[in-house]
Amino acid sequence: MGTTPLHPLELLDFEELISDGERAIQATVRAFVADRVRPFIAEWFEAGDVPTGELARELGALGLLGMDLEGYGCAGTTATEYGLACMELEAADSGLRSMVSVQGSLAMFAIWRWGDEEQKREWLPRMAAGDVIGCFALTEADSGSDPGAMRTHAKRQGDDWVLNGTKMWITNGSVAQVAIVWAHTDEGVRGFIVPTDTPGFSAPAIRRKWSLRASVTSELVFDDVRLPARAVLPGVTGLKGPLVCLNEARFGVVFGTVGAARDCLETAIEYAQSRVQFDRPIAAFQLTQRKLVDMAVQLDTAMLLALHLGRLKDAGRIRPVQLSVGKLNNTRVALEIARTCRSILGANGITLDYPVIRHANNLESVYTYEGTDEIHTLVIGEALTGISAFR
Ligand SMILES: Cc1cc2nc3c(=O)[nH]c(=O)nc-3n(C[C@H](O)[C@H](O)[C@H](O)COP(=O)(O)OP(=O)(O)OC[C@H]3O[C@@H](n4cnc5c(N)ncnc54)[C@H](O)[C@@H]3O)c2cc1C
Repeated sequence: MGTTPLHPLELLDFEELISDGERAIQATVRAFVADRVRPFIAEWFEAGDVPTGELARELGALGLLGMDLEGYGCAGTTATEYGLACMELEAADSGLRSMVSVQGSLAMFAIWRWGDEEQKREWLPRMAAGDVIGCFALTEADSGSDPGAMRTHAKRQGDDWVLNGTKMWITNGSVAQVAIVWAHTDEGVRGFIVPTDTPGFSAPAIRRKWSLRASVTSELVFDDVRLPARAVLPGVTGLKGPLVCLNEARFGVVFGTVGAARDCLETAIEYAQSRVQFDRPIAAFQLTQRKLVDMAVQLDTAMLLALHLGRLKDAGRIRPVQLSVGKLNNTRVALEIARTCRSILGANGITLDYPVIRHANNLESVYTYEGTDEIHTLVIGEALTGISAFR
């Protein structure tokens, strides 16, 4: 006897934990990606080419850029609403969520949190509308997990700053009109707002990526880039500047990865119900059911964790180590789910006709950026033992 199948997220009645307003935002983003992203995403991924500028304006019109920031043309939603939007964006593709995270949680947030009034008025409304795309440049070829080892530096010359160095792996780099660049100075690490048409700035795209292909990733080169005194973010000196921004972006990852995993699991369940081998749908085999059940339980616990962190953030009580728990767990879970779903789809699982291998490849990047799995492990290890194992 068969029963009506439940969606994996119906197992724990999540609907009761989400308000009508939150559900409405989720539905809007879901409809947007169904119309504007899903029909084209495999093509963009295969070509390694995505219409970022066009999408940015559409995302801006929906209020999704800098969504949870107050004022300056931003939507001012709750953190949980922003998280649920990230979930729907990443259910379409991690590259789309990366674009939105970098724009809102890194580039815009850096200006919103550490900028002065003039800088906020100059940049944020245009960035919220998607007319100006931003990038956030911390990582360098030789300094990733250890950003303090960066070599990019800015020196004062009269009232100006002169910036030299290179950054690597910068999302949105080649399509950005403005870059938030972190550099050593005589005063410590400072953040600079760098219009990308400043002489001496270039941003060659990184090619031959096999992950996040529907997202622009670039090198940034600064060759005597001269900036006025007002280019520096006045609100912070030291690595705290970029690290506080990264915590904002991690929050989006906690929810986003649930979206990618959900999309894989929905695909695998549907496939298992219709794919027949040995005269039965493969969903009828106990080994397949075990995979589906393990994944549904993992997905539901990841969702609970995301919602819990959303509520903590909305209450103003979230701590960085809690974001490490969320980033670590939900990225691991999503990657594992994507790989297992790939196995359920058999040979079809390796094609772009289904979203699973694309999500799996994308999640390899998510595993590494916004703090690697290992670095978040050490952050939690330090919290538990009081001993730092970083060096
Ligand atoms: C697609 C993509 C987009 C990105 N976008 C941006 C962006 O927009 N802006 C930006 O600034 N950066 C960006 N990054 C860079 C990303 O943040 C870095 O890749 C990340 O911080 C890791 O640095 P790394 O790649 O140099 O690896 P490494 O730091 O060299 O690490 C290599 C390995 O060693 C491990 N390791 C390092 N130190 C320790 C330790 N103390 N203990 C144990 N293990 C350790 C790491 O966990 C990892 O497994 C992006 C990366 C990717 C892939």
